[in-house]
Order: sequence, then C-alpha cells, then structure tokens
Amino acid sequence: MAKQGLKLRFKSYELQLKHRFTLAGSSRTTTPGVLVEVEYDGVVGYGEASMPPYLGENHESVEKFLSLLNMEQFNDPFQTEAILAYVDFVALGNCAAKASVDIALYDLVGKLKGLPCHQIWELDPSKTPDTSFTIGIDDEKTVRQKVKEAAQFKMLKVKLGRSNDLEMIKTIRSETNVPLSVDVNQGWTDKQLALDKIYWLQEQGVVFVEQPMPKKVMDDMAWLTENSPLPTFADEAVQRLTDVPRLKGVYSGINIKLMKCTGLAEARQMIELARLLDMKVLLGCTTETSCAVSAAAQLSPLADFADLDGNLLITNDPFEGMQVTDGKIVLNDWPGIGVKLI
Ligand code: MG
Repeated sequence: MAKQGLKLRFKSYELQLKHRFTLAGSSRTTTPGVLVEVEYDGVVGYGEASMPPYLGENHESVEKFLSLLNMEQFNDPFQTEAILAYVDFVALGNCAAKASVDIALYDLVGKLKGLPCHQIWELDPSKTPDTSFTIGIDDEKTVRQKVKEAAQFKMLKVKLGRSNDLEMIKTIRSETNVPLSVDVNQGWTDKQLALDKIYWLQEQGVVFVEQPMPKKVMDDMAWLTENSPLPTFADEAVQRLTDVPRLKGVYSGINIKLMKCTGLAEARQMIELARLLDMKVLLGCTTETSCAVSAAAQLSPLADFADLDGNLLITNDPFEGMQVTDGKIVLNDWPGIGVKLI
C-alpha cells in the first residue's frame, strides 16, 4: 500500500516570560507561539513559530498561513528542498510560520534517518560556541539579580539604547568580568556619539555591538563600522538571504535567526554567503522554546557567536533539548533537532 502524505498539525501557545523583557522600543511579559508537528509513517517532527511583536506575525496570521498548506501532497519527506520551496511560495512574508514547518521537517527527516541534523550536515559538535545570556533594560536591583542568575554564562548580552546605557554597563561590571556584547536595537541615531560610546564600551570589555543604529541608516552605519574598534552586527537590518549582499561593508556581520529567515535551510545558505563575503555570523533567537533553540543549535558549530538563550527566558517550555554547560552549547545525540517532549 502506498504511504500517505505528510500530516501537519499545529496549536497556538503562549510563552510565559520569567522577567518582563524591555528593549529600546518595547516591553512585554508573554510571547505568542505556535507548536507544529509534521508526521510521516507514524514518526513526528516538532517545530515552532515564535512571534515577538517586531516581526509582525501573530497567532491568527500563523494559523491562517499553516491552514493554507497542503502537505498531504508530499509522499517523500526527504524532498526537503521541494517541500520548503512550496511552503515559501504559498504566500509572502510569514517567516516564523514558514520556519515552524522547516524545523518540524528537519526534525522528522533526522528521526527517519536516526541521525541528529548536525551529523547529517557533517558538523563537529565539539565546535559549538559559548552562548550569551541576555540582560534586558531594567532598574539596577533587577539587573544585579539577573546577572547573578546568569553566573554560569561566559558571555552576557546587554540591551542598550535607552537613556541609561552607562548605568547598565556599570551595574553589570560591578557584578561580573565576563565578556559582554551589546544590542542597541536601533537606539542610537548620531554616528559620532555612537562611535564615542563604542570606544567606551570597548574599554569595558564589550566584544561586539549589535544593531547600533536604525536599520534604514546605511551610509552612517558603514562609516560607523569602518571606524569602530569593535565588530558591528546587523539584526533588524537583516532578515533573509537576499538582504545579505547589500550589508557587506555596512556591518561586520549578521545575526541570523530562524524566525526571521524561514528556518534552517535558509539559515545555512545565509551562513555560507556571509562566509563568502567575509562577514561574521552570530546565531540568535527570539524568546522561544527548546524546540527552535535546539534547531538553531544544530548549526552553531558554524557560527562565530551564539545567542541561544530564548528557552531560558520562559517558564513553560514543553521540550527538553540543547543544554548549556559552563556557558557552552552542548548538543545531544538525539535524532533530528535533538528535542523530546517533556
Ligand atoms: Mg538583536
């Protein structure tokens, strides 16, 4: 009897954040998500869409997009390229929704082969980087508390871009000497002031600066990168593969996130292209469960830096997967993206 096609199931989910999360432009305590399953021949692959407000997707848009998909037409889950090309062409945008299918499909393929994705891609699991842990903008007492909770991490990512940049760094430096990265979330508008701050940050042990200026600013940003003593990374300014070439010379590197770029397949292409262009790679995430974080971690041996802490920021993670030991990403040898439902 011929095997049936792929089955797709999904349900909306609300990620509960441990701490109110404050960035240069927003503040929240929950993040909407959608949990996805792709099943073939009794084997289930898990995926997830996570939708922080700045990406413009929500429960309704993701459910609507997933409802449009006819996955039953595919009888061979190993045709990942054809399946994901179909998913991408069903509608524009919807990047997190597309990522949820991509992640579930790679999880399924790995399980059918009995191999972890990093092994299928011939990546060395010992080459995983440390991951940073994110400290959001907050009052001094809360920042101190968060830094204490993050004692096992070898790098902290500090959110800047409001009016208390210096206080944030000074507070953190009074608690720890680990290297820092900073994420300004487009919060600085004057290039000379930005450069002055970067020189000061370098003295404070900061190793790179993420999205210092608004994403549409190109000339001033190129000037800043050229003069900056620290590498600069695009985050809001980069979404998909086609964005990468025009950022050469404007930023030193790119922050790749599965929810922005439609998933693992395109993330791998972006890493390859960044290398060709001699740009650095930061592998990031949004607030998400261990599902999407573990999927991204499969690619982490290819990254210069990783910021895969999204699962650690929530209290209702339905999965176990990638672990962080002594600050370093540790991949397990479970097949697929390396997750189990708790
Ligand atoms: Mg960022």
